[in-house]
Amino acid sequence: MYIIILGPPGVGKGTQSKLIAEKLKIKHLSTGDILRKAIDDKTELGLKAKSIMDSGELVSDEIMIGIIRESLSNEEARKGFILDGFPRTIRQAESLDKILSDMKLNNITVLNITAIEDELIKRMTGRGRDDDSIEVVRNRLKVYREQTAPVKKFYSSKTKVIEVEGIGSVEEINNRIINLLTRIKS
Ligand code: AMP
Repeated sequence: MYIIILGPPGVGKGTQSKLIAEKLKIKHLSTGDILRKAIDDKTELGLKAKSIMDSGELVSDEIMIGIIRESLSNEEARKGFILDGFPRTIRQAESLDKILSDMKLNNITVLNITAIEDELIKRMTGRGRDDDSIEVVRNRLKVYREQTAPVKKFYSSKTKVIEVEGIGSVEEINNRIINLLTRIKS
């Protein structure tokens, strides 16, 4: 399966994507993880991305589209993937469309996980990540509302977006998702 997982920061996309990837034996592609690894490895990309991520803003579309194009250009990706953290802007979504159609991949499944902002703030400020201070969390949510929420509308206008309520235990939410995915697969 080829899955795009959407939803606000703190909703559990990363945790759920990992579980889905294990269960469906597909590749988990997280742009946040790729950037955090670049920061740890002190690469040029990491140096550029660090201050942007620490402020809760988005790394440029150009850089992110390059990363995704590269990550999808191998045989492993063809066998299936779940894209976590990308696309985050309309421009990224349009570029992804083009990349996937060049790869002749259609049948993309789009999942959207939801939760109310108070719950997201509570979860994120409890995670202990560098970009999880209250001011940065508020900014990440603002950036989400302004730049990323429209991505869901972009997909809704062309395909069915599977809505999942991101409230409950990790396991409950995961069961919910796997049930919905099994339904479309069969
Ligand atoms: P995440 O782990 O998905 O919450 O991403 C952490 C941070 O990495 C975000 O707040 C952004 O600064 C950056 N980032 C991750 N993915 C993207 C993307 N597709 N476009 C722009 N910035 C991104």
